[in-house]
Amino acid sequence: MPEKLTDVIAELVLANRILDHEGVMDAFGHVSVRHPSDPGRYLLSRARSPAAIEAGDILEYTLDSAPVKPPKVHLYSERVIHGEIYKARSDVMAVCHHHAAAVMPFCIAGKPIMPVFHVGAAMGADAPFWDQHDEFGDTNLLVVKPEEGASLARALGRHSAVLMNRHGATVVGGSVKELVSRAIFMCQNAEYQLRALALGAATPLHPGETRLAGSISLMPGVISRTWEYWSMRLAAAGGMPPRHSAKKAAPGKRKARRR
Ligand code: MN
Repeated sequence: MPEKLTDVIAELVLANRILDHEGVMDAFGHVSVRHPSDPGRYLLSRARSPAAIEAGDILEYTLDSAPVKPPKVHLYSERVIHGEIYKARSDVMAVCHHHAAAVMPFCIAGKPIMPVFHVGAAMGADAPFWDQHDEFGDTNLLVVKPEEGASLARALGRHSAVLMNRHGATVVGGSVKELVSRAIFMCQNAEYQLRALALGAATPLHPGETRLAGSISLMPGVISRTWEYWSMRLAAAGGMPPRHSAKKAAPGKRKARRR
């Protein structure tokens, strides 16, 4: 993971746009990263659709999901998902919450997503299922209260992803790039699982296979290969963020250019 704050922010912006372009996020959904030098804070955009996010949109939050500077913009109401998971899991460096079309049938039917092909093993052996209604009764299904976020974090436990009843999924990673890989491969896995079910059978990999295949798809060489691939696809579609904060030219230089 990059160490410089500006590089971490640039990576987070790209992650937002890649996850949108690959169909994991749409108008909704959000992705965050733990602050590179302060583990008690995290970085997350202001409330904005992921495809539109730029570096200037990224704000700093405490793990209680309070913005560090008084905000002049709207914030994601579901940001407690991020804060409460960072509190509960010191190993987690990045979090994505989404309502991807690929996972929704499973969230609605209450059926588990399980790794059904080698790349899908990036999700781990299983993803727990969380029903907000169990603990909180009737709500609008948004995870907005700290206790709701904490409940979701408990359901996630030591897993890499958790399904949310009639809502979506939340995925975690040890870095932004690992998270992006896992989130995309888990959606691919869900699509293949559903299609294989239509053919009559979709059984999971053996636990040992999941462990071995899962560790391959999260190896640094593989992660940088997939990141490059998804970045190229985003660039080809014209979705790259605008270049920003180009250093102002010195007055003398500016004059020289005018002549
Ligand atoms: Mn949501």
